[in-house]
Amino acid sequence: MSDTDSTSQSDTLRTPIVAVLGHVDHGKTSLLDKIRGSAVSEGEAGAITQHIGATAVPLDTVSQMAGSLVKPEDFDLPGLLFIDTPGHHSFSTLRSRGGALADIAILVVDVNDGFQPQTEEAIDILKRTGTPFIVAANKVDTTPGWNPQQGEPIQKSLEKQSKRAKSKLDESLYQLIGELSDKGFSSDFYWRVQNFQKNIGVVPVSALTGEGIPDLLGVLMGLSQRYMKDEMAIDVAGPGYGTVLEVKEERGFGATLDVVLYDGTIHAGDTIVVGGANEPIVTEVRALLQPRPNAEIRTEKRFDKVDEVRAAAGVKIAAPDLEDAMAGAPVRVVGDRDVDEVIREVEAELADIEVTTEEEGVVVKADTLGSLEAMANALQEAEVPILRAEVGDIAPRDVAVASTAREPEHKVILGFNVDVLSNAQDELDKGEVKLFDDDVIYQLVEEYEEFVDEMKRAQQ
Ligand code: GDP
Repeated sequence: MSDTDSTSQSDTLRTPIVAVLGHVDHGKTSLLDKIRGSAVSEGEAGAITQHIGATAVPLDTVSQMAGSLVKPEDFDLPGLLFIDTPGHHSFSTLRSRGGALADIAILVVDVNDGFQPQTEEAIDILKRTGTPFIVAANKVDTTPGWNPQQGEPIQKSLEKQSKRAKSKLDESLYQLIGELSDKGFSSDFYWRVQNFQKNIGVVPVSALTGEGIPDLLGVLMGLSQRYMKDEMAIDVAGPGYGTVLEVKEERGFGATLDVVLYDGTIHAGDTIVVGGANEPIVTEVRALLQPRPNAEIRTEKRFDKVDEVRAAAGVKIAAPDLEDAMAGAPVRVVGDRDVDEVIREVEAELADIEVTTEEEGVVVKADTLGSLEAMANALQEAEVPILRAEVGDIAPRDVAVASTAREPEHKVILGFNVDVLSNAQDELDKGEVKLFDDDVIYQLVEEYEEFVDEMKRAQQ
């Protein structure tokens, strides 16, 4: 581009979308809760806005929380949008135009526990999708002799710790830096990082005391502003682009979509195209809904109807014919374009999700496109061939397909986060095809590998 400012007239900057990943119990949920909670208690300014599936923290609030680390005048990005569901399952489910939906990720690692299987899995996914990330080295408050320091940057707080506490924590942090290096990432304490594109910043935090959270927000904001500004330029006048988080039955509305919009604007009444289990769905937006603060659960009044939503935001879409929509699938507003063109776009995006199948192998079923792809990648790494891979619950047809495999070790269905339809259970009960199901990918692959090992041992 010849111009230094590549944004056009109708362009505006949207909030970067942030996802939280890490091993179970390392503190992902606590960290998100703490960020939301501290934002609310800062009160005044913009506080936060609860969206469907996401929380928006405006720049004013970020800056109040981060103190001297974020001066509003240095930024023109409007804040940060945190996806509420942590974990790499939702991360890999949430895609946009073939990449990751999240612009940036926080990898949470318990300083006492270090790298664990899901930390490794998360890193592999971040690497594959090329998503920039920072590391939240969590639970620093559990360091023996830790003396909590509120209200100042963590670097200062570290200086005030006893020698013993400091050297204990340093030991854990250096171990973490070593583990990142084994994974091919150069990293350092965030205040020593000059270029966040080259080095991963490690931020010591406590989701319990809130220490380090100002620093975490400061790094997220600074990194986005410095390296991602161009990607945050959206055409607000243009048609909305989003990704389905979840397909949900809602009383009074039928099947609805929870969507994260990452580009353009969507209006009530717009014609949209959504990726469906069989074919793209063309429908008209009946209502755009946002959660109503303090609303009673279980009534239609839980939601406020809004006329339009602009990116980046989470929103619930009520519209006819959404039953077959798929989590992880694209949503496109048709706008001035020809509807067939938009259908082709949606089809192309779905086809982009690559799963290589072979003449011989196992059958894989998963709940979303993203998880199907993640499963396929994990199986490829384990050198397990795939005969068929599809989104959806396990049906009799899947059992029939699995039974056509030549090798006994391939007469198998691997199901990730899916149910078994009752007539398929009857087929499975005949015993020719074996089912493995789990909601943790590495466990599912491990279970299958153990089965193959046992089978081979039995043959010897
Ligand atoms: P998740 O599975 O990664 O979402 O982890 P959770 O947020 O559910 O946290 C797991 C456990 O660790 C809970 O009992 C939390 O209270 C605790 N925990 C999380 N963060 C911290 C922290 O910074 N310090 C301490 N002491 N405990 C924490």
